[in-house]
Amino acid sequence: MKTLSIKKGLPLSVAGAPAPKIEKGPAVSSVAFLPEILPAIKPRLLVKNGDTVKIGTPLFKDKNNPDVLFLSPGGGTVTEILYGHRRAISRIVIQTGRTEDHERFDPVDKEQLAAMDRKEIISVLMARGLWGFIRNLPYRTIPAADETPASIWVSLDPSDPFQVPSGVYLKGNESLFAFGIRALECLGAPVFVCESLGSEVSHEAVAPLVTHRVSGTYPAEDPGVLLYHTKTSPRENHAWFISGQDVLMLAEGLSTGRYPTERIVSVSAPAGRYMKTRLGAPLASLLSGEAAGENRRWIMGGLFRGRSVPKDGYLGLTETSLLIALDAGDPELFGFLRPGLKKPTASRTFLYALHKKPFAPLADMHGEERACINCGKCQAICPVDIMVPFAYKSIYAGEIEDALAHGLLDCVVCGLCSFVCPAKIELAETFESTRHAYHQDRI
Ligand code: SF4
Ligand code: SF4
Repeated sequence: MKTLSIKKGLPLSVAGAPAPKIEKGPAVSSVAFLPEILPAIKPRLLVKNGDTVKIGTPLFKDKNNPDVLFLSPGGGTVTEILYGHRRAISRIVIQTGRTEDHERFDPVDKEQLAAMDRKEIISVLMARGLWGFIRNLPYRTIPAADETPASIWVSLDPSDPFQVPSGVYLKGNESLFAFGIRALECLGAPVFVCESLGSEVSHEAVAPLVTHRVSGTYPAEDPGVLLYHTKTSPRENHAWFISGQDVLMLAEGLSTGRYPTERIVSVSAPAGRYMKTRLGAPLASLLSGEAAGENRRWIMGGLFRGRSVPKDGYLGLTETSLLIALDAGDPELFGFLRPGLKKPTASRTFLYALHKKPFAPLADMHGEERACINCGKCQAICPVDIMVPFAYKSIYAGEIEDALAHGLLDCVVCGLCSFVCPAKIELAETFESTRHAYHQDRI
């Protein structure tokens, strides 16, 4: 087992951490699939409004990759197909019935799995809607069947604030997890399972699978960061990754022959908790009391990489966290003169730097974007050593090749450079959209 120590990053101390027990979420009357948030997918619908579907009925497929199916997370009636910008399918809502039927696939046991070759396992995963849980690097899109990764990374404990830790989701599911890792090993690349130092998995079914122990602050456990710090040649740049909780989804889908629907989600302040809910659950079912009140912003999928969701929103395919932030209020009068005891800062701009107590997330920029002052804070914090100001200026000047030379493709879109930038430049967003456009050009 290797130990990796990631030096750069940011210790995040956010208020509202969930208590370490799992609550059962309320029953839901509708679930949704959100094609819009899947990266680089061109959906072709396979259902229409009013159709009756089971759990596991194909809802759409990817036009670029037609063997990849996306299945219904609920059984009932398709009641809404919502189109967004440029007629992209934003969401498909299923009103769930009192009892929900499942599509049945043949269960795969250990012996059958051991006898499968790469082609077989890929086609099984694609047909059962399980392929969408896997992502590739560096673009973080759903891989094509003909891609061959140099490695497959599984992070057990995401270092983003309030993601569900392995101690919560693995408990009682250790053998299922080991089965999922065996399935990933059939994909023809070494599988690296990483746990964070201090949360060692001692269960006999999981401990032998762990290959790396990682120390460091956010985003130390990101697969892109791990790959950056372990690769020895450019050939290793093309890797795949999947979260620990999604390994369980994949394993359940294979071993039971049913499309998996159960999800454990962390919900942050004011009463942080882990909730057992289901794929595509409505946001409203995760909120209670103060969390559902006015002047709140609901962020699905992580503090820095998540998306802001309206109150009638739904949980996405791989999302397992809901963060509740206070909405920005009116601008502060003479805000720049205030000591900022409650304003988190990575530099020493505010007096918060003296106590660094957990901060409550606040959706306030405290000012507008200004010109870069070449302070170098973005570059100093970047966990993958990108020359951030140079890469940004190259993009601004339309010199994409230069941005690539400055490390653009290594970016893990962690958002730290944007967070620390005193000029409030949306660096991470710019890098993400540029990488996406570059990738689309190459498809
Ligand atoms: S460039 Fe910014 S978003 Fe990308 S990895 Fe570095 S700090 Fe994170
Ligand atoms: S942190 Fe912002 S202001 Fe400082 S060098 Fe980076 S982009 Fe420029």
